[in-house]
Amino acid sequence: EKRDRLRTSTGPGRTADGHPVKLLLNIGSAADLGTEVAAEGVGLFRTEFLFLDRRTAPEMDEQVAAYEAVFRALPGDRVVVRTLDAGTDKPLPFLGLPEETNPALGVRGLRVARARPEVLDTQLDAIAAAARAAGVRPWVMAPMVTTVAEAADFARRARSRGIADVGAMVEVPAAALRASRLLAELDFLSVGTNDLSQYTCAVDRQHGELADLLDPWQPALLRLVAECADAGRRAGKPVGVCGEAAADPLLAPVLAGLGVTSLSMSALSVPAVREALAARTMAECEHAARSALEADGPAEARRHAG
Ligand code: PEP
Ligand code: MG
Repeated sequence: EKRDRLRTSTGPGRTADGHPVKLLLNIGSAADLGTEVAAEGVGLFRTEFLFLDRRTAPEMDEQVAAYEAVFRALPGDRVVVRTLDAGTDKPLPFLGLPEETNPALGVRGLRVARARPEVLDTQLDAIAAAARAAGVRPWVMAPMVTTVAEAADFARRARSRGIADVGAMVEVPAAALRASRLLAELDFLSVGTNDLSQYTCAVDRQHGELADLLDPWQPALLRLVAECADAGRRAGKPVGVCGEAAADPLLAPVLAGLGVTSLSMSALSVPAVREALAARTMAECEHAARSALEADGPAEARRHAG
C-alpha cells in the first residue's frame, strides 16, 4: 500500500537523542506521492495547478476530487493544504485582476480574497467536503498572510466550514514579527523561506545576481524563523518550515535547534535531511542555531554549523 511504502526505509524524523522533527512533503498534486521515499505526511500541498491556464475558476467537483485523492493516499497522516497562491509569478487570467507594476508587492496570495472572496470560500468548501469524503481531518493554511486581522478572517472562514486546524504561511516579515499574536488566532504556522527571504532582504526571489542576499543562512532570516519558533513553543503549537531552506541538510539541524517542529520538502530531499538530524543531538542543534543567529553573515553561519 502506498502509505506503507512512504514509511518504509525510514521511520520518523528524529535527532540522535530522539527529539522528533516531523519530515513532511511538498507536493503539487496526488501524482507527486508516487514515490518510495518515506515521510510523515504533507507539509505543503500547493493547489495552484488546479487554477493555472484557465478562463474560469475550477468547479467545486473538480477541486473536491483533487483534494480527496491526496487525502485518501495518506489517511491518518497530516496533510496541509495551502489555499490558492495567485499573483506575481503565478498570474491567473480568470481572476480578472488588473495588471500591477510591482506584482510581488501587490494583490497576491490571501490578498486575492479581498477582490474575489468567493474563490477562497469555494476552495475551503471543497477542502472540507474532500476531507469529509475521505474521513480525514484536514489542515489548511493561507499564503502571504501579513496581519492578525487577515489571519483572524481566514480562520473564521475555515472554521465555519468545520476545518479545525487552521494556519498561516509566514512569508512576510510583518507576520513573523507578530507570530505570537497570529498563533492566538491560528493553530499552526509554516514558514515559507523562499518568499520570506525575498521580502526580508528586498530581492526578487528569481534574481540570480543577488542570490547571496536570498541565502536562507542570512542571520536576519534565521532571526525571523526564531521569532516564529519561539512563539510556537510558548503557545504549544506547531511551527514548521516549508521553503527550500528545509531541504538543506546542513540547515535542517539549525532550524530544529531554533525550535521548528517540522520540515517540509520535496521527496528527494528527505533521506539526507533525516540523516543529518539523526547525526546530531538536540543540544548540538541548539548550539548550531545560536551560533548561526550570532554570525555576521551566511558564510560564518555555515562554518559554525558544519
Ligand atoms: C515559500 O515561499 O517559501 C513557499 C514555500 O511558497 P512558494 O514557493 O510556493 O511561494
Ligand atoms: Mg511563497
